[in-house]
Amino acid sequence: MLKVAKFGGSSVAGADQFKKVRDIVLSDPARRIVVVSAAGKRSSGDHKLTDLLYLCHAHLTYGVPCDDILTSIRTRFAEIRDQLGLTYDVERDFDALRARLSKEMPVDELVSRGEYFTSRLMAEFLGYTFVDAADCVFFGFDGRVDREKTDAALAAAVKKYDHVVIPGFYGRAPTGKIKVMTRGGSDITGALAAAATDADIYENWTDVSGILMADPKIVKDPKPIPKITYGELREMAFMGASVLHEESILPVKERGIALNIRNTNRPQDPGTMIVERVAQEQDQERLITGIAGRKNFTILTVLKRNMNTSLTLRNALEILDRYHAAVEHITLGLDSFALVVASAALESSLYEVVADIQKNCRPDDVRIQDGIALVAAVGRKMTSRPGTSGRLFQALGQHGLNIRTIAQGADELSIIVGVENSDFEKAIRVLYDGFTG
Ligand code: ASP
Repeated sequence: MLKVAKFGGSSVAGADQFKKVRDIVLSDPARRIVVVSAAGKRSSGDHKLTDLLYLCHAHLTYGVPCDDILTSIRTRFAEIRDQLGLTYDVERDFDALRARLSKEMPVDELVSRGEYFTSRLMAEFLGYTFVDAADCVFFGFDGRVDREKTDAALAAAVKKYDHVVIPGFYGRAPTGKIKVMTRGGSDITGALAAAATDADIYENWTDVSGILMADPKIVKDPKPIPKITYGELREMAFMGASVLHEESILPVKERGIALNIRNTNRPQDPGTMIVERVAQEQDQERLITGIAGRKNFTILTVLKRNMNTSLTLRNALEILDRYHAAVEHITLGLDSFALVVASAALESSLYEVVADIQKNCRPDDVRIQDGIALVAAVGRKMTSRPGTSGRLFQALGQHGLNIRTIAQGADELSIIVGVENSDFEKAIRVLYDGFTG
């Protein structure tokens, strides 16, 4: 049995969190590969080290001194070391870095040091071997991870050292320089390590007991989701639920490795298990897996009597494409169709888009409705149960919520409704109560 355990920034924010991580890792001999983020916030007013490192770089670029920030970063590492009774010479390595700091220091190298130092300390604390991501995560010239090279290097490192700590978030570019991923990228490193070693499970340890059924800023104490499929997770994430880094899914999904989201502060909770599929007869979960949504969409309705729908629609889509405005949903009527687009994507081009539609599609009318929020009820069980959409519309109707547009994902994993932005929170609460109560 082999488990990859990735710990996010809040799980390694200070010495107390390090102790929780050690208890978790050492309680299961299968947890032989540990991936860590840079130390995150210890409390709400605190700063993530990655943010501070980006800030330092901005100072260097504009020639503004950043000694105080650098000292505070060094102090955080030294404090963790001292409180845990470790010996790693933070000062020597940090001061060597500091001596090289200049405007020319690549930003990626500087910000990667958050993960680097945090991992050095964690490796010593766990008694595991530190394996530098710069030696086992590689990017191609296209900026993407070179999977073949990375898989081979990660597998070789684990084979050689058996128990390893790998810093997340960065790797090496073909130029030899350090390159970071997009924010939250340590999730990707964990997934790569799990895929490369064919791990039995990829555990992603964070500060919530799994993915919640709804946003806790909107719904009070939403229930965690025990089991979700990769497909459902994608719908949830697309509709605004922030869970894992998007790119961390594919490496584990394609190898059939389950992903378990766990809470470092409550290791007794089972968290959320993300799997490829759930056998129907074993599926004990609720009808609806989760509810998510996003605000600020615009609906463009094109009306034209006796129109050739395919042609007119294609013209309209081409126009939006020209202005780089992605269409999120389309609803078709006999003499009309409506396109739902994120308002931000039309911010600078709305008038041109409408003018072009008028010119090329020759409609009877084009109507614009903005301030629309999309709310999705996501659930793999909706296919097999009739009446789900009925329940959903009934719940919204009973609470006086006016539905502006309706869409069902083609794979029947979600039903999406458009409501006024001002009704967004209420719609989420109504649906949550309707399906959990
Ligand atoms: N430390 C990086 C960030 O803050 C990467 C990560 O935490 O996954 O984005």
